[in-house]
Amino acid sequence: MRCPFCDSHDTQVLDTRTNPEVNAVRRRRKCGACAKRFTTFEKVELRMPRLIKKDGTRSDFDREKLSSSMMVALRKRHVATERVDLAIDRIEEKLRSSGEREIATAHIGELVMHELALLDQVAFIRFASVYRSFDTPEDFRVAAQAVDAPLSLRKPRRTRTR
Ligand SMILES: [Zn+2]
Repeated sequence: MRCPFCDSHDTQVLDTRTNPEVNAVRRRRKCGACAKRFTTFEKVELRMPRLIKKDGTRSDFDREKLSSSMMVALRKRHVATERVDLAIDRIEEKLRSSGEREIATAHIGELVMHELALLDQVAFIRFASVYRSFDTPEDFRVAAQAVDAPLSLRKPRRTRTR
């Protein structure tokens, strides 16, 4: 720990106190170079990492987006919503406990594929086949909707008469 006053690395801990209520450690320190005192805090970081897309842009993790992209893959499959929620919980937990500040969306895609493989093979294949060529779950959702939705458009055109 460097001294905030003179930037020296020569600091020592005078006193350590733990606060179990907030799972934090407070340390009183003294700089050996300038003799000034300061306090540091140590806390467990369980923040959700931010997402890095392929193009380098960052965005916040969005459970709703993740959920909706998985639901698209699971459409018309017999998988209880509760099991999907638990799968998303596991993905979130893995991301939080990674300790990373930022994480590639591709990595989240892999986590989703892993969970879908456990839930439903068809959903897994749907997701994997489309996701691998896209950047984010959001891209997948849009693409999957575009593929699924216009079934009615594929009906023979009435205008064409011969
Ligand atoms: Zn100092």
